[in-house]
Amino acid sequence: MSGGGGAADLLARHRAVLPSWLTLNYEQPIEIAAGKGCRVIDGEGNEYLDFFAGILTNMLGYGVPEVTEAIAAQADTGVLHTSTLYLIRSQVELAERIAELSGIPDAKVFFTSSGTEANEAALLLTTSARRSNQVLALRNSYHGRSYAAMGVTGNRGWSPSSFSPVDVSYVMNGYRYRSPFGHLSDADYCRAAADDLRDVLLTTTSGDVACMIAEPVQGVGGFVVPPTGFFRALKDVLDEHGIPFVSDEVQTGWGRTGDTFWGISAHGVVPDAMTFAKGLGNGLSIGGVVARADLMDGLTANSISTFGGNPLSTRGALATLDYLLHHDLQANARAVGRRLLDGLREIARTVPLVGEVRGAGLMIGIELVEPGTRVPDPAAAARAMEETRRRGLLIGKGGLHGNVLRVAPPLTLGADEADEGLDILRAALLAATDPTAEGSTPA
Ligand code: PMP
Repeated sequence: MSGGGGAADLLARHRAVLPSWLTLNYEQPIEIAAGKGCRVIDGEGNEYLDFFAGILTNMLGYGVPEVTEAIAAQADTGVLHTSTLYLIRSQVELAERIAELSGIPDAKVFFTSSGTEANEAALLLTTSARRSNQVLALRNSYHGRSYAAMGVTGNRGWSPSSFSPVDVSYVMNGYRYRSPFGHLSDADYCRAAADDLRDVLLTTTSGDVACMIAEPVQGVGGFVVPPTGFFRALKDVLDEHGIPFVSDEVQTGWGRTGDTFWGISAHGVVPDAMTFAKGLGNGLSIGGVVARADLMDGLTANSISTFGGNPLSTRGALATLDYLLHHDLQANARAVGRRLLDGLREIARTVPLVGEVRGAGLMIGIELVEPGTRVPDPAAAARAMEETRRRGLLIGKGGLHGNVLRVAPPLTLGADEADEGLDILRAALLAATDPTAEGSTPA
């Protein structure tokens, strides 16, 4: 590492040499220097409670000895990785565990280094197996930043190119707050979405579709939780046409949504494939796809990933998975998530800026609007981000308009930490309500 200097100096160097489109949070971005539990410390010694867990990457929080020891043990062998051309014990073990946890009958697993690559692999498998490049996705979706993953991404803020290697058609998402269907009951909304899917199949595809890919709860799109049964209704239509369904569990997997281990299970759906990444390595780079064996083995040409399934990541992931299951963090996500959701809904009653609070487990969105309307207020969200940071809390931001605050702490979050975060969020939202208030940061 060359050069010293504080965050301001590092920012100037970052801006000079890294792309302008690489997003950084905060007007004065921070460098995370260390972490323990649900807290991190920046390069200038400021401590923060982390309610974004990286971006849902540190699902166990920071400095977990069981994970660190597993990584150190692999490093001690002198081999961080050689090649996936050789047998890797931890890769096989992790694949066995994930195949079983997936609930997909006769499942096989392919590892990658990121969520993007995982979706890329799922698209490759399904387009190849079905000999079609037609794909269905949801409006406002996010699936990664490679050519095809970006190509299916429905959220235009993250998919600037109109060129896509896949022929994608977009289906209505489960965004009740911004529903084009008007006010419908959950059951009627699900029926309307299924009708929309039928219509899309009839009008914008040849019917010969490779797959549908969707996030059970839209992440980057603003933690959009569809009504229960939404995916059941869509899956029934897909089944009528024999179209495989790929659940993108990159954000929703591993118990984050509280009620179920996979986000999609809340809808009583067993998908044909699931993609995963983020939390599995607790900060290590790992992703993958778990799919029905016939889909997985349907690829007719050889394919290999140099780093996917490497021993360092897979040993770290096995330790992460063990910890997660042993401590039943899904149950914690359910209980502490409920506490946060209730607390935030209480806060929303006194802060007119908050249009909606929605969530599943430890994945909670706070949609900010111009008071008394549903007009998105991204400037207020930017102010709220600065105000939380000033008070020692890190959160995320998302939504098509950048007006949704995203709360997704490590799954280990305690009740006291949840309450501490709620106090900060209350104060920050009040401060963000009035941009001229003393001590508030300009948007
Ligand atoms: N799918 C979803 C649902 C995601 O949220 C993300 C990352 N935000 C990705 C895929 C891409 O994962 P990665 O950034 O690891 O490539």
